[in-house]
Amino acid sequence: MPYVTGYPRVGEKRELKFALERFWRGESSFDEVENVAKELRKRHWLYQKEAKAKFISSNDFSLYDQMIDMIVTLGCEPEEYRDLEGVERYFAMARGDKNHKALPMTKWLNTNYHYFVPYLKKDQSFKPNVEKILKEFTEAKEIGIDTKVNLIGPVTFLSFARSEDIDPLKLIDKIVPVYKELVEELKRAGVKYIQFDEPALVKDVSNEQLEALKKAYANIPTEGVEIYVVTYFERANEAVDILVDTEISGIGLDFVYGMENVESVEKIAKSGKKLIAGVVDGRNIWISDIDKKVEFLNSLPIDKEQVIVSTSCSLLHVPYTLKYEEKMDKNIKSWLAFANEKLDELRIIERLYTNAPLNESDKELYEKNKRANESRKNSTQIHNQAVQKRVKNLPKNLKAREMPATRRLKIQHEILKYPVLPTTTIGSFPQTKEVRKTRKAYKEGLISVEEYKRKIREFIDYAIEVQEEVGLDIFVHGEFERNDMVEYFSQMLKGVTFSENGWVQSYGSRCVKPPIIFGDVSRPESMTVEWITYAQSKTKKIVKGMLTGPVTMLNWSFVRDDLDKEEVYKQMALAIADEVSDLQDAGIKIIQVDEAAFKEGYPLRKAKRGEYERVAVESFKISTATARPQTQIHTHMCYSDFNDIMETIDAMDADVISIETARNGNRILEAFKKYNYQKEVGVGVYDIHSPRVPSKEEILKEIEKRLAVFPADKLWINPDCGLKTRKWEEVIPALKNMVEATKDVRSRMVKL
Ligand code: GLN
Ligand code: ZN
Repeated sequence: MPYVTGYPRVGEKRELKFALERFWRGESSFDEVENVAKELRKRHWLYQKEAKAKFISSNDFSLYDQMIDMIVTLGCEPEEYRDLEGVERYFAMARGDKNHKALPMTKWLNTNYHYFVPYLKKDQSFKPNVEKILKEFTEAKEIGIDTKVNLIGPVTFLSFARSEDIDPLKLIDKIVPVYKELVEELKRAGVKYIQFDEPALVKDVSNEQLEALKKAYANIPTEGVEIYVVTYFERANEAVDILVDTEISGIGLDFVYGMENVESVEKIAKSGKKLIAGVVDGRNIWISDIDKKVEFLNSLPIDKEQVIVSTSCSLLHVPYTLKYEEKMDKNIKSWLAFANEKLDELRIIERLYTNAPLNESDKELYEKNKRANESRKNSTQIHNQAVQKRVKNLPKNLKAREMPATRRLKIQHEILKYPVLPTTTIGSFPQTKEVRKTRKAYKEGLISVEEYKRKIREFIDYAIEVQEEVGLDIFVHGEFERNDMVEYFSQMLKGVTFSENGWVQSYGSRCVKPPIIFGDVSRPESMTVEWITYAQSKTKKIVKGMLTGPVTMLNWSFVRDDLDKEEVYKQMALAIADEVSDLQDAGIKIIQVDEAAFKEGYPLRKAKRGEYERVAVESFKISTATARPQTQIHTHMCYSDFNDIMETIDAMDADVISIETARNGNRILEAFKKYNYQKEVGVGVYDIHSPRVPSKEEILKEIEKRLAVFPADKLWINPDCGLKTRKWEEVIPALKNMVEATKDVRSRMVKL
């Protein structure tokens, strides 16, 4: 009885995205969105049915986000949206409107999916609303599919909620009766299976969470309905200890990313509950080794009758199908499984495990799987002896830079001669329509390489002109040749490839197409030198070279699973080190290696953090080890709280770090000061996410605040992050104000 935890929803051609965006632009009615949504649900159910899945979900569909759906289901929409109703209210929570701010969004555990954060109050009221659920359940029923209903479980809902006046978990007594009512209503409507997603339980759980868990599942009705509580992305042993003593029917565990879950299997066996065994990787795109999966299932100390074979998590995190990948290398394609191919694997694994016969086409698929796994082991497309050797025999001078940073910085100051409070930007400048058009035309073969390069050089010319006019100290070339800071580099690296249609939902209507790191990584030729040296040739000011770091490259890609991740990180690091070396040889004096995704790659369990930090730091150091002491290395980080990783940031050994934090730059600087950070720091002086131009006075205040806590000779002045989403009309005055404010501060410092 194959079990699918959940299925993607934007559509294999991103139909939902386009329908929503048409509606938001006012070009279509909401009915049209609904029609598309209904079609998609039906198509998705039928795919799963055809693949012989037994447990198929409803309510895994969402117009925007399953957490917002749950807010509606529980009737706990925050007060400020109550002036609206229905669709308007829903999209106001999701995207904001003239009078409403959107709910904040944040990452769904360690994935690149973003959910929206519920805001609850001490006196929060709840009111069950099953409208959406029953609509979808009935739709499925009409095409003959008896779905399990997916809901976010109470512990996860509260753990992920925020509140200003209460610890949301304390609302458990209030919320459980609402869940109870929900279940009763669903039962009355004929629902037989309910899946509660409780991924919050895979983190280091607190006693309060475990208490809440006990309360919740002791009270949720189980008579006449099968309740499954599923966890994913990590081990959930503590939760199992509680859940085995409740009346629920089954427990879902991840056996891809939480192998320690094996230790809890015996307990589940004894409890008589079902084990929903997540063996098909729901968040990466490699084929399963079917034989190994079956062998693994056979090794579990539990009766086969008690096991339900499942995906490790919802398939939301992988693309739909390989069907449209016509341009992809045939071998590489044979090593991949997207959502629909995973459904086939799931069925075959289940049949082999239960000793059920395979039909002809499944036999063929099974043989194909064996062959693909075999070729993956030996293919020269994947395995590159030279790269492997290089990583193994890394000499000391390629592991870290020479000299302590403080001495390096002294040397650099003599060469670079930048003033106190040097001003700079984080790298990208506005990606105007013109810029995007140019890249697109080139990609589609509509313009020649020469024409393309000429255009990009024009964009760079303009960026340099602007920076001269504004009066910045350290320039950038503007990143006009890049669509995205990870994709651009991936396209130039060996061992990395791209899908044509491998979209994965990031949030709402936004999708990303992560690079696929399938083999040993190397850099055949330079990736940025041409652009950056061109920019440098146009000015006397120093132009900062701009690269993406190894940790971010991996954290935003699908990473191969047939090699220890540490090796992959280090291969990537060496490829970047080669680029650093080339830039330096071409006369570039400052090089920034961005690590925007450094923090978000942290493991879910604290016990595993140390190992991640070690590998991440070692990799970053390798990627910059080719830089001579005279070359200044910058790094940049964003979107996260850095106060708890000061030591790790220090260990990365960058000469200068810029950090995004327009909101509370002082707090982070205090942390740097307390830590006695000896290198240089630029804490964003204005938020780049808003089109608003910050005034000179505003920025002045920000700078002064920073100077009150951090020594001037270590401080850089820069915006929060890259400026690619802004318009030139916003960027130019904002940077002017930033430079003017800095000059004011400097002149006062001289007088003192
Ligand atoms: N250099 C990149 C840019 O400016 C950094 C992007 C980021 O931090 N997310 O676009
Ligand atoms: Zn950033």
